[in-house]
This record gives sequence, structure tokens and C-alpha cells, in this order.
Amino acid sequence: MTIERIIKKFEENHPGEDTTMLRLAYDFALEAHSGQLRKTGEPYIQHPLHTAFLLAEIKADLPTIIAGLIHDVPEDTDKTIEDVQKNFGEEVATLVAGITKLGKIKYRGIERYRENLKKMFLAMAADIRVIFIKFCDRLHNLRTLEGLPPAKQKRIAQETLEIYAPIAGMLGIWRLKWQLEDLCFKYLYPEKFQELEQEYEVEKKAERNQYFQKIKKELLPRLAETNLNYDLEVRFKHLYSIYQKMQRKDRKFDEIYDVFALRIIVPTIDDCYKALGIIHTIWRPKPNRFKDYIAVPKPNGYRSLHTTIFGPEGKAVEFQIRTQEMHEESLYGLAAHWYYKARNQNGLQPHWVKEIIDIQKEISDTSELIKNIKLDIFNDRIFVFSPKGDVFELPEYSTPIDFAYAVHTNIGNQATGAIVNDRLAKLDQELKNGDLVEIITDKGRQYPNRDWLKFAKTKRARDRIKQFAKKSPIENFKRFLPGRKKE
Ligand code: MN
Repeated sequence: MTIERIIKKFEENHPGEDTTMLRLAYDFALEAHSGQLRKTGEPYIQHPLHTAFLLAEIKADLPTIIAGLIHDVPEDTDKTIEDVQKNFGEEVATLVAGITKLGKIKYRGIERYRENLKKMFLAMAADIRVIFIKFCDRLHNLRTLEGLPPAKQKRIAQETLEIYAPIAGMLGIWRLKWQLEDLCFKYLYPEKFQELEQEYEVEKKAERNQYFQKIKKELLPRLAETNLNYDLEVRFKHLYSIYQKMQRKDRKFDEIYDVFALRIIVPTIDDCYKALGIIHTIWRPKPNRFKDYIAVPKPNGYRSLHTTIFGPEGKAVEFQIRTQEMHEESLYGLAAHWYYKARNQNGLQPHWVKEIIDIQKEISDTSELIKNIKLDIFNDRIFVFSPKGDVFELPEYSTPIDFAYAVHTNIGNQATGAIVNDRLAKLDQELKNGDLVEIITDKGRQYPNRDWLKFAKTKRARDRIKQFAKKSPIENFKRFLPGRKKE
């Protein structure tokens, strides 16, 4: 990697901006790290260079890339944060100080998970750019993990998979999430990774491409008829998500039909629905697979139309339709959107980000904030995932029944059991941050169980249980029995 490539990348996204500081930052880091080598044997400067390049790729601004170039200087060299401030000013110094602070947080097993998460969130709320730098730093470290002893490789991969990747997901930075996950997958389950890679990347590749051509042959003429301006691209699922799917559903690779999705990018929201109409007139849609995330965005702000159709040879194919803006957001995250464009006003950012910022505004002293970290937003909330990767925010000690009602009233009413992290769980089991929860339902069941009130935590679940349990004919009948208290 060279500073020239970084400057070139930066200029692509920020034409006309002065890049003198980038070169100065490079000189500063080069001198500070001179003589240092990485475990892989290459000069240390390569690491900050790669970190800065990744930042330039996700369209980071100038101070962020400068901070990326010098992010390891105060920690690993004779130069101090004061030196950084003297040379590059307050803004860059604050970013670098944030990274240094984050670097001190070490992962010590699952019990530390929460504590680490708290600090990550704090840093993020202070300045989202610190998280961007930290993620790019981690991505490059993962890519060069081979220089480390196996035990350390596993520890870093585990930490990334449990802490960084979920946060990237919550922030909607999918591009980083996928890359992080696949690298971790490779180090944590090397055999599984190789097996899947061989099958997916090598053996099935030609077959997949042929199938893609068939779809194009039917679709392109129809799109051309409508004068729709579009980009069509094929998106292959990343290996770790295929692996997770296989784990969850206990299926073989061949049976996972949606290993790739077709993406249509059009200029306007109207065009999205037009394109959807065209697709549905060519192929029959699969029932219950249409998702309008434009009308109802995911909690992390994700927007798109999703539909699965029966394509050539009757095979199920997923389409994702979106505008260019939605596309960029899905790659770089809502965080990017929030940072680059709207700055807070669009109402799209996750609720919890806003809460942290509000609290931070009230408490100007950060050390005070860290002391007061028993803040309700951390202690009271957990984040759990649905099998589709949607994030649900629930109060602490919530149970699968709270989750079920958070997803949909019918799911709650028809719940009979739950699968938490691939294991069968009882409906009153306490959920933990980061759990992946799936609800087992019985369609024949119409009423919730009144006993659930003993453990349901959310108001929503409790209200629904009371409301629907009353509708049971037996309950109604019982209300007329003598001696029964009115509720
Ligand atoms: Mn670093």
C-alpha cells in the first residue's frame, strides 16, 4: 500500500479537497514507526496505510483518514497525543485518543462482552468516526492474522465475531460485517470454511453464472421496454451467512436455495415499485416472501424491496430492488448516511443512538459519564436478533415471549416454544444480549396462555396477553362464574 493510492481514492470521493495533510500524516507516522516490523515481517507503516485506505474506500472524511494513518502512534511509539495535536489539531487528536482508549479494552471472554459493548457505544456516540477507524483497523489486522500464534488468532476472531460484527450489523454497515465475518469464520472453523469455499466458490460457480444468464435473457428485454434506467448486479451470499443458515435449518448446502440474490438499482422509489411489477409479471412470486422495507424500514434503517420468485427451472430467486441512495446506505450503513448527509435530522437512526447522544449532551464530562454507566439505556436493554438478522431492542430479562410479541401479535399468540442460539429453549428463559431467537408457533393455537404474565416483561406482551387471553371462550365463560373477581 502507498500513500499515493490513498490520496487517489480520497480524491475520487472528495474532488478538489486539499490533500497536503494526508502526506504530512504519512510522513509523521512513517518516522514514528520507523524500524518497527509487524508480526508478518513487513514494515509497520503498512498497517496504518491499509487502515487509511479502507477508510478512504468507505468515503471517510479527511480528519478520519488522517487519524487512520496515525492511529497507532501514541500507543506504540515515542510520539504522544500532544504531538499529534500540535501537528494535526484538536479534531484529529480527539479521534486518535478515542482509538487509543478503545484499544485498551481487551476481550476477556463472554462475561466482559457487555462491558466492552458499553464502551464501544460510548465511543461511538462521542464520534461515530472512531468506530469506523476501529473497524478498519480490525479488518486489516484480521487479514494479516497469519503472523500470530493460533491461540491469539482464535481469540481475535472470536472477539470480532461476538463484538465487532454485531455492532457493524446494528449500524447497518453490511460491507464491513460480511468481510469481518468471513475472515473470522476462516480462523474459527477452518475445515468448515474450506469445505464450503470449495463447494461454493469453485464447484458451483459456473452453474450459478449460467443460471444468472438465463434470468438476464428473460428480464432485460422487459426492462428495456419500459425505459427504466437500471443497474443489475448479482450478489452472492457470503460464506458465513450460508454456514449460519445451514446450522440453523440443519440443511445441506444444495438445499439452501437463496445463495445469491439479484439486485436492481433504479433512480427513484417509484421505479422500485415499477421494477417489482415487471418481475412479478414475468415470474410467479413465492407467497409470503415479499418484504416492503421501503414503506417499513428495518430497525437499523435498511430500505429495499425484497421478493422471491420462481425463476427459470422453477428455482427460487431473490430480488432486491432499491435506489442508489438506499444502496449506498446498505453498504456503508445508516451511520454513514447519518454522518455524511443528514446529520441527525432524518429520524432514521436507531433509537438507541439518539438516546446515547442525548445523555451525552447532558453530561459534558465523559469520565463522569463512564462512572454513571449504570445508565438505564445499557442496563435496561438488550439487543436480540431474529433469524433474518433483524435487531430487536428489549428490556433486560426479557423472554422469548416478549420477543414473539415484539415481532408480531400472532407470533406471540401462537407461540409454543423457542430456539435460542440454535438450542431449544423454554418460553420463560431469560434472553441475553446478542441472542438469536426463533419462535416456534402452532397455527392452530389462537389464544395466549395467561400464565405467561408471570414472566412477560414488556408492556406490549403483557397487554396483548391480557387482551387476547380474555377472548378465549373458556375465559369468557369463567368470568360469569360466581365468586370470580372482575379484572
Ligand atoms: Mn492498529
